Formats: sequence, C-alpha cells, structure tokens
Amino acid sequence: MGDFVVERAKHEVLEWKERHDLVQIQLKLPGELRDLSIQKLKQLQSKLRTDLEEVDKVLYLENAKKCMKCEENNRTVTLEPCNHLSICNTCAGSVTECPYCQVPVITTHT
Ligand SMILES: [Zn+2]
Ligand SMILES: [Zn+2]
Repeated sequence: MGDFVVERAKHEVLEWKERHDLVQIQLKLPGELRDLSIQKLKQLQSKLRTDLEEVDKVLYLENAKKCMKCEENNRTVTLEPCNHLSICNTCAGSVTECPYCQVPVITTHT
C-alpha cells in the first residue's frame, strides 16, 4: 500500500518534469526536433500555436495604434477630408495624402 503511494508520487513528479521540459523547449534545430517523440512534437506544436496567437493579438493591437507612415509614434492626427486617424504629429507636416485611403489631405487636426 505504502509502495503504491510512493510510485504514484514518483509518477506525478515525472509528469511534472515532462511538462516542465516542454516549457524549456525553445526553438530547436530541425535535427534536434527529430529526436523528440511524436507526442512531444504535437505538444510543442500546440504550445507554439497558442504562443503565436498571443503574439499576433498583441502585434495587431499595437499596430492598430501606430502611425501608418512612420510606424513608430502613436496615431494622434485626423486628416481632412477623409477623417482617418492614421498618422502621428511628426508626420502630419509632411503627408500630402492619407496613407490609408490615398485621399489628398486638405487639412489636419489633433
Ligand atoms: Zn508618423
Ligand atoms: Zn483616409
């Protein structure tokens, strides 16, 4: 009975170690990847997929805030007449057309 508990605990430690190892796996060379079991590769694939989704989400949100001309500063300027909030203060002086819809700019306002 006592042995059973010990065996179980050992098993749990091993399982935890498996998961922990997986977290440690970063990008590997194709040769190294070939050494992994199919099951481990599948786990790795789904983990990377989830990570990639997170990166995509953040990147999309960050991009949506950035100036379409310099892609560095946040968008703060609205263009007339198209009304697009597409560029930053720095670029406002140099744009002649909206980078989003290509409509010629008549005036800008913040
Ligand atoms: Zn800009
Ligand atoms: Zn526009």
